[in-house]
Amino acid sequence: SCGVVPLRITRSTLGIGILLILLVTGAGISGLMARAGTTVDSTPDIGRMMATIRHFSENEAGEPISRFAYRVEMDALEDDLRARMADAVGVRGTALLWPFPSRHPPGSWDPATAACGGLDPASVAHSHPTTWPAGGDIPYRSTFQNVIGRLPGTNPGQGKYVVCSHFDAIGARTPDWRGWIDVAPGADDNLSGTAAVLELARLLAAEPPLPFDLEFVCFDGEELGLWGSDTLAHAERAAGAPILGVFNMDMIGYNPRLDSLVVMTNRSSWYLGNYVQETEALTPQPDLTFRLMIDNLLNSDHGPYWSAGYPGLLMIESLQIVKHNPQYHQVIDRASTISRDGRLMGKAANIYLKTLRRLAAAASTTPELRVGETDMIVSVNGAIESRIATPGDLVTLDGGIFNTGGDTGGAPINVSFHLIDNAGARHFLEASTVTTPIRTGGHLRVPFERVATTDDIGAMTIEMEVDDGTRVVTARRAIPVRGTMSQVVNHYLTPNPVRVIESAYLNYELSTDASVRVTLFDMHGDELGRAYYNYTVG
Ligand SMILES: [Zn+2]
Repeated sequence: SCGVVPLRITRSTLGIGILLILLVTGAGISGLMARAGTTVDSTPDIGRMMATIRHFSENEAGEPISRFAYRVEMDALEDDLRARMADAVGVRGTALLWPFPSRHPPGSWDPATAACGGLDPASVAHSHPTTWPAGGDIPYRSTFQNVIGRLPGTNPGQGKYVVCSHFDAIGARTPDWRGWIDVAPGADDNLSGTAAVLELARLLAAEPPLPFDLEFVCFDGEELGLWGSDTLAHAERAAGAPILGVFNMDMIGYNPRLDSLVVMTNRSSWYLGNYVQETEALTPQPDLTFRLMIDNLLNSDHGPYWSAGYPGLLMIESLQIVKHNPQYHQVIDRASTISRDGRLMGKAANIYLKTLRRLAAAASTTPELRVGETDMIVSVNGAIESRIATPGDLVTLDGGIFNTGGDTGGAPINVSFHLIDNAGARHFLEASTVTTPIRTGGHLRVPFERVATTDDIGAMTIEMEVDDGTRVVTARRAIPVRGTMSQVVNHYLTPNPVRVIESAYLNYELSTDASVRVTLFDMHGDELGRAYYNYTVG
């Protein structure tokens, strides 16, 4: 069975949604205006960033140099990078080398079992021979070093943002590349991100202290399997470090056609990605295509932070990197391939810069707690984001609360969960009070559990309500519950009513004959109307 329901969409229906967007935009701009007149409009200096890329990828004769992580001369390069980091963070900051041992000290390298992220074993075996051409042991480094810059905020230890990149490089996609001799300049992968980290450190160090700590990290050993970030993220987890977010950049400089960037997030960091996207939308940079994408790719330095339970994002020029960038992991990844003299890279850095400034401005305001459907993580019988339940299944919902205003300071926050039944009625389920301080940029998950019943067949819709005494915010997430009754197995709305505001068609298929109720909501979730239809086989 199937049906087509014509929907008449009036201007007043959509007007509410449009008005809502305008209000959010207005509030954000006034927040930024509050800091105008200080240094808030300084943007990344792309000339300086290009100079950083050239400095670390070319010698004085303009020939490419290598930043392959195993090479012994990397020590001098790391000292150089640390000195530049020290310049960037200035007198208020500190810059240090953070050494960590190699997983594969000289003589113990086993290409068959080596964890080389993203490389197939054949290329690993080729890239890491166990003898010099002339014979004897390879003088591989057994100690690697991350370069870390720290800039304390006005509330030291209250939480920090990590802005990061990796500075090592590899050329293993170039045929017959030999890591111990051949170059790996890595201009885009990832001096582009490293130049951005240094530039953000320099700009933010020149502004009044932010309310939170900032840590700028350039990782070593990324190309060998995220060694630098894996080691540091685990050390942070073990120390219980309060990391509010990780802003990773890896390959942000190359796109010959247009300025286009992706921020990749996983499900549990989605709220942070949304905030970054929203920030860019407040003051959009011209000629920039910018997308937020949900994925679980662990192949850069945000990955170990995700594994350690921290929120993080990856900024990258494209997720189809092999197709997108022909220089990727080749000796031809040179400064000359960076697009439009670094303009794309500058825009990438600017997105994170604007985000950090906006968060800083929010710290002097009252708390502003956010909840959202995309920030409610559902598990069915322990399987995360398995979204269809049957009666008897244990449904767990982890609802996130994100604070985009000032510190709550431990003031009580009432969190309650309600069931919205299939008839639309709201039933109280449980409530608790949170007194954990939620800082600016802080995020807290509140878990909720319920066993699906036969009454839930259709959808089990849970509403989370958060009340901090000044305002109430709610979000709903519907978890489909399978039953024997008729199901809508397929539905779509055409044309997109956002573009064509006169009319649209709702098309759907049913698993059995049934009566159908169609309910129309506005963007607030308020019901606008409903209609009933009866269908029989035909
Ligand atoms: Zn990279």
